[in-house]
Amino acid sequence: MMVSLMLKEFTYDVPKIERGYANQTLYVNLSTNEIKVKPVDEKMKETFTGGKGFDLWLMWNGLPKDKVVKWDDPENEICIASGPLGGVTQYPGAGKSIVTTISPMTGIPIDSNVGGYFGPHLKFSGFDAMEIQGKANSDIYIFIDGDHGKVQIYDASDLPDTAYEITRVLSERHTEKDGKDLSVVSAGPGAEHAWMGCLNFSWWDMRRNMPRYKQAGRGGVGTVFRNKRIKALVCKIQKITLDMNNPADPDGVKKVGREHSSEILELDSKQNRMRVVGTGHLPSIMDEFDLLPTRNFRTGSDPEAKNLFGDVWEKIFTNPGKGWDGCWRPCAINCSHCIEGFVPKTGPFKGKTVLVDGPEYETIAGCGSNIGVFDPHYVAEMNFYCDAYGIDTISFGTTMAFVMELFEEGYIDEKATGGHKLTWGAGEEALAVLHEIAEGKGFGGEHFGKGTHYLKGYFRKFGVDEQIMQDIGMEHKGLEYSEYMTKESLAQQGGYGLALKGPQHDEAWLIFLDMVHNYMPTFDQKAEALHWFPMWRTWFGLNGLCKLPWNDVVPADNAQTDEPAKVPKHIEFYARFFEAMTGRPTKGDDLVGMSEKVYNFQRIFNIRQGKGLRINDSFIPYRSAGPVTDWEYKSRQERYDTQLKESGIDIDGMTTTEKKDKLREIREERYRLLTDAAYKRRGWTRNGVPTLDKVKALGLDWIPGLVDIVKKHTESQPPNETLPASDEAWM
Ligand code: SF4
Repeated sequence: MMVSLMLKEFTYDVPKIERGYANQTLYVNLSTNEIKVKPVDEKMKETFTGGKGFDLWLMWNGLPKDKVVKWDDPENEICIASGPLGGVTQYPGAGKSIVTTISPMTGIPIDSNVGGYFGPHLKFSGFDAMEIQGKANSDIYIFIDGDHGKVQIYDASDLPDTAYEITRVLSERHTEKDGKDLSVVSAGPGAEHAWMGCLNFSWWDMRRNMPRYKQAGRGGVGTVFRNKRIKALVCKIQKITLDMNNPADPDGVKKVGREHSSEILELDSKQNRMRVVGTGHLPSIMDEFDLLPTRNFRTGSDPEAKNLFGDVWEKIFTNPGKGWDGCWRPCAINCSHCIEGFVPKTGPFKGKTVLVDGPEYETIAGCGSNIGVFDPHYVAEMNFYCDAYGIDTISFGTTMAFVMELFEEGYIDEKATGGHKLTWGAGEEALAVLHEIAEGKGFGGEHFGKGTHYLKGYFRKFGVDEQIMQDIGMEHKGLEYSEYMTKESLAQQGGYGLALKGPQHDEAWLIFLDMVHNYMPTFDQKAEALHWFPMWRTWFGLNGLCKLPWNDVVPADNAQTDEPAKVPKHIEFYARFFEAMTGRPTKGDDLVGMSEKVYNFQRIFNIRQGKGLRINDSFIPYRSAGPVTDWEYKSRQERYDTQLKESGIDIDGMTTTEKKDKLREIREERYRLLTDAAYKRRGWTRNGVPTLDKVKALGLDWIPGLVDIVKKHTESQPPNETLPASDEAWM
């Protein structure tokens, strides 16, 4: 077997984990090959809990404070962490890793919560988090041997390009247990040429005896990874047991884990059937409630959408529900399904047999209905190549939808798209663009992979109207929208527009609660939801947990509780879990308190990066709030006419254009009022700055440099929001 040149080796004593913490982090600088260990103290744990909190704290200290750090500066960092509850083999969903970096898409910290074994392996190797800074001169990979206390940097010039091949080679090279002891993180060739690069985290599929993948998709973490010339990270640990986390109360951890798992095993088949179709159960619900993005978020349902429903995927997935499909060892939900024996019709794997990891809902909607593709084969093929190339399926799908609408409506033609005829449903053309991204040439490699915000600037050269691009280009803060229609859900408009990192649903996925369950009918309830849910959902990323076990399978009597949207019984499960692991007395409300510290800290980090004020939460693309075109208005005319009348507008004699414009005034004003209300509830000024009182109440005022930023911006005024969106707001 070929062995690469080792460039640096660092040895360390693997510490005993105490109550979920290794109490140290790993620092690697690729410019100098410096490797060192940093301590974790009680103040750090108390303030930031772990996971994303630790990642952001390491970045706050590690990045230069006297300048706005750009994504491709050598000083930018990639941090990866587990969390105090990560790596627990008795709890569903306890295997997540959280990745942060300054994003190429947004210029602020992005965080991505991903399955696979790397985070737990890292912790059991002795590190609560890993911090990578600097840039290597040539391709390298980092090997962490947690069994023998070694960190090694290797030359990677002999490694293949695609994620699947990289993992295969490194698994053969470093395993002591037929690959089962490894987790590999890799990007792919697309991430070298695009800003929407993702990371693949491997996990071991015991049924198929092979590595499988989950993706840290959002915000270009894979792009930063390849810009640092990292080809892969490998972490090896031969055995994982409950004892290794050394919980304060091991029996307590086991008991609550058993209760939660038993409930899932009993109820999943009666609820969403995650063990059979995973998040593939969502397209039919979204279509029924007019929430499935279709042809660039113009409409929320389509007669052809049934070709992408769960019953279709159930037949395509290989043996779903009949064994191991969990991206964490004991996860009772087991929702990570796959397609074996898939044969791509295009690209370098054309005619070969491959395995497709997924697709999940976001990919089905983004690379399917949202670009008018209703053939599941093409959705699966885009899923496969996006993963292999290291490209985010959400950003790819949403950007493709934008380009296709411009093409269909005649704003651009083949001259702007490098000869590609990008009409609705053109699956092969979309794949051709994806292959160009991997090759780094043509329209895909030179332009498309940089995403929607960049393309708005690029298409200006072809004379495309700026207002239409602002209205239908579905990005905010530079990040593409994930795949939910929000026109009729004011709460989800805020859930996306006020999200710290850009419009990604994991921070505030309110659409289902708002539109399907109608849990927040009043304006005040929506504002309250925009406080509570982002805080609560943040908590999973602090602890190394997956959110799905919280509310994708709920207790049988959940609807009868006072606040069913919060799933109160599960909050109590998590409080018991946290207390049993850490020994800290914990009630349900305490969990949100942990998140609030990190959430406000991240907001102030955004301000430090020059992009965390109200102007940056404003100017959501109007397509996300209402009908942009007369055609859209007419497609739901009865609904919109009724809403105008209920707002006291006499619509007699008004043209469609006049009604559409009036509706826009009303809806844009509602978004502004919601922003005011949500900021107030969060304890922020009208310009979106956490107040000094809030910062003190949260115990953040000891953080070096933080109070100065707050004081500097406390008196700043919100922008005049009647101004059109401008590039200064984001790029
Ligand atoms: S619920 Fe699904 S995504 Fe979450 S840890 Fe379990 S198998 Fe992985």
